[in-house]
Amino acid sequence: MEPTICLVTVADCLFCRIVVGEIPATVVAETERTLAFRDIAPKAPTHVLVIPKEHYADVATLAVGDAVLAGEVLATVADVAAAEGLDGTGFRVIFNTGASVGQTVFHAHAHVLGGVDMDGDLT
Ligand code: C5P
Repeated sequence: MEPTICLVTVADCLFCRIVVGEIPATVVAETERTLAFRDIAPKAPTHVLVIPKEHYADVATLAVGDAVLAGEVLATVADVAAAEGLDGTGFRVIFNTGASVGQTVFHAHAHVLGGVDMDGDLT
């Protein structure tokens, strides 16, 4: 299926600007409604961000606004993890939600992290 650009673009949103190609990113996967690209400041050997192309401020807003799209984001997370060879070794998925827990870009995104041993400490 031919990828489409997002229908709702917030002009000053960094990730909306990546979706429409105004800001470069290293894209690793794309579906009609999701995009995956490498984090510009990786915290692990594999660090990919998966976003809905449509703008939602965070994962909670996304889940309420379009639960099907939230599922598509998770499906892309799983596809990226497999493509990066992480499905056997394990990987971590983080949705920072709110400035107080470190969200800095207010367009919903999943961090997919792997390629290094991580213990159960969530910090
Ligand atoms: O969860 P949080 O909002 O802090 O994550 C935003 C992420 O977006 C950061 O890990 C940052 O490195 C990444 N980023 C990026 N490309 C940009 C700007 C930010 O990958 N152009």
